[in-house]
Amino acid sequence: MWDKFPVIAEADVVIVGSGSAGSSAAIAAGRSGADAVLIEKLPFLGGTSTAVLDTFYGFFTPGNVSKKVVGGVGDDVVTGLKALGPVIRRPNTFGAGMGITYVAEHLKVVWERLVREAGVRVLLHTFLQHAIVNNGWVDEIVVATKAGLRRVRATVFVDASGDADLCHFAGFGYERAGDAGPVQTLTTTFRMANVDRARRASIDTKTLHGLMAEAASGGGYDLPRREGSDHITPIDGVTATIMTRLPSYERHADGTAVNATDPDFLTNAEMDGRRQALEYVRFLRDHTPGYESAQLVALGTQIGVRETRRVYGDYRLTAEDVLGAVSFDDQIGLCGAPIEDHHEGTDTRWRYLPDGATVGIPYRSLVVRDAGNVLVGGRCFSATHDAHASVRSMAQCMAMGQAAGAAAAMAVADGVSARDVDVHRLQSALSRGGAIIESDDAVVAP
Ligand SMILES: Cc1cc2nc3c(=O)[nH]c(=O)nc-3n(C[C@H](O)[C@H](O)[C@H](O)COP(=O)(O)OP(=O)(O)OC[C@H]3O[C@@H](n4cnc5c(N)ncnc54)[C@H](O)[C@@H]3O)c2cc1C
Repeated sequence: MWDKFPVIAEADVVIVGSGSAGSSAAIAAGRSGADAVLIEKLPFLGGTSTAVLDTFYGFFTPGNVSKKVVGGVGDDVVTGLKALGPVIRRPNTFGAGMGITYVAEHLKVVWERLVREAGVRVLLHTFLQHAIVNNGWVDEIVVATKAGLRRVRATVFVDASGDADLCHFAGFGYERAGDAGPVQTLTTTFRMANVDRARRASIDTKTLHGLMAEAASGGGYDLPRREGSDHITPIDGVTATIMTRLPSYERHADGTAVNATDPDFLTNAEMDGRRQALEYVRFLRDHTPGYESAQLVALGTQIGVRETRRVYGDYRLTAEDVLGAVSFDDQIGLCGAPIEDHHEGTDTRWRYLPDGATVGIPYRSLVVRDAGNVLVGGRCFSATHDAHASVRSMAQCMAMGQAAGAAAAMAVADGVSARDVDVHRLQSALSRGGAIIESDDAVVAP
């Protein structure tokens, strides 16, 4: 039945999703000489990095010895941002390492520039809906476009959709977050303008949390998370927040469950998130020094989704790997970020690696267990809930994406499956592209 829909693209490598992982994968595939197509349902690139957030974490390890652990495409992105305006390096509110805060509108343009310079064809407003699979090999995918349904063919696919949509439609195995353990909550971000920075700086984070708890316990405000944060941005008088908290999983009486991949659940979460954001705005204006004359200027373009589906890969990263700072022969990147669990309580739980230490991200955690020609990158990679809660920062998503894109191009050039890519050659290629792979190569941050 799918044959009746025209083929809109045929490429060596097709990447689904253009978040930090997918855009990096596209850039790496294009730079490696592959004919690459990047498919994105939104009207711009960047996913969570442009639609929800404004701060990269994961470039630096937290603690007293701050090491820079991600380079490559990530560095090019930061250089591109600096060329368009100021970026701010600032410590994370919860001690999770140095962040890089940028103007999200600039990042949309930076992703576009880098992807185009790499010779990648981009299809925006293009929504993956179906996969045609033969013995574990994806032959083609079906996408919804303004012109109707279309087919897209590729030799190798990268699933960087965050929600593992490609693996889901292909019938490959994954864990639905929440089914077997805890799941991270959802957050609608928002930005405030006309904030008096000096007055806001007169109280510390602990005091802000105390004010939140007081306002919430008085009953006048619906503030489920009492440890939310606000931070300065490169624009004077504008702050951004990560404060709201919405459930990301609902179990029904009949035993079925839904999450942010369910149309009704997602729609309600978007609307509830905006309603809740206005509650936090009210709290800030009524109770927080510096916000007395502040105004809401933007709600996140879409609700922030931390985890939905984690694909089963050839290896599954665990909390023990992360906290034990384990190295792997086939690692393609590093992570020093703590396990940051936005569970359904009023606080957020943090577990740290030893000071300055990193865990390796194994190539096998990007190789889809049930597939021959599919790699994953970003927040749907193969990990347990806890390990995912560490490795999902955007710098790590860029590192995973760069590796997946370069590996996909190698698989095409060598005529092998994703699984049979020569990992040592991949590691050398990534290093030449500026990626940081071995902990010895991570230098103390300037
Ligand atoms: C509220 C919140 C706060 C966070 N705070 C930080 C922070 O401060 N710093 C940090 O480094 N990390 C933070 N994280 C984590 C980090 O942002 C994410 O893990 C990371 O951005 C995920 O990148 P990704 O490329 O894997 O996925 P995404 O950024 O989610 O990108 C997936 C892309 O795929 C597209 N897509 C999905 N399905 C389809 C489909 N079927 N067809 C076509 N396109 C599709 C989406 O539109 C999107 O563009 C936060 C996450 C959340 C939710």
